[in-house]
Amino acid sequence: MKPVSPDLPLATDTTVGPVTRPTALAHVHHTVVSCKQCPRLRAYCTQVAREKKRAHRDETYWGKPVPGFGDPDARVLLVGLAPAAHGANRTGRVFTGDGSGDFLMAALHRTGFASIPTSQRADDGLRLDGAYILAAVRCAPPDNMPSPDERARCLVHLDAETRALPHVRVVVALGKVAFDAWLQLLQHRGTRIRPKPVFGHGVTVRLPGPAGCVLLGCYHPSRQNTNTGTLTPPMMTTVFRRARRLAGLRTT
Ligand code: SF4
Repeated sequence: MKPVSPDLPLATDTTVGPVTRPTALAHVHHTVVSCKQCPRLRAYCTQVAREKKRAHRDETYWGKPVPGFGDPDARVLLVGLAPAAHGANRTGRVFTGDGSGDFLMAALHRTGFASIPTSQRADDGLRLDGAYILAAVRCAPPDNMPSPDERARCLVHLDAETRALPHVRVVVALGKVAFDAWLQLLQHRGTRIRPKPVFGHGVTVRLPGPAGCVLLGCYHPSRQNTNTGTLTPPMMTTVFRRARRLAGLRTT
């Protein structure tokens, strides 16, 4: 990879200090939750929240864009695709309330990032240590597939939220959409990476910049991937242990 611009705010931006970071994150969360830039997605989330799934018919769905969740001092950032219609769009917490969330949290618990091995409700007491999770697109899309325009529009939130996480050293992209979103964000920030890395499980990209940030590819813990054995618990454990090592965290 050719050397490129050293402008890599993810790892080097210190304009948000430790005292003001929770405030910065709270501000970002407020901005995310009130965003209405994508009419198609906002209408879909609202409709799902109104109609509900039979199993959750007595619950009040969140039905709004979903901000990130985790440790403000995280060195490892996990980037997912988008909230699930009856998962995070219902519970209001990313990767919470569906099988993907439980699969992911079990792996994060095995590797020392999560306090409990499940992620079922926003009030379950789950805490993350050293990790922060967010989605590349904050509104649940029909068929789990946001359009290119919707992905591009939501980059502003990815940018803002990660600027409030100055200690991140390793980015784990859960799936190709997240992987490409991260590269797009870097490009937006003036960092060009050529040739463009291609997503794959276990792919490691050392990103330019003085702090040596690393991008890791990992298959998304979707039901389709986990039910078919495309992604197994040991595969995800291996990626997260690697993320810990690369981030300079003690491995478990
Ligand atoms: S997908 Fe992102 S940009 Fe679009 S409405 Fe939701 S939060 Fe806003």
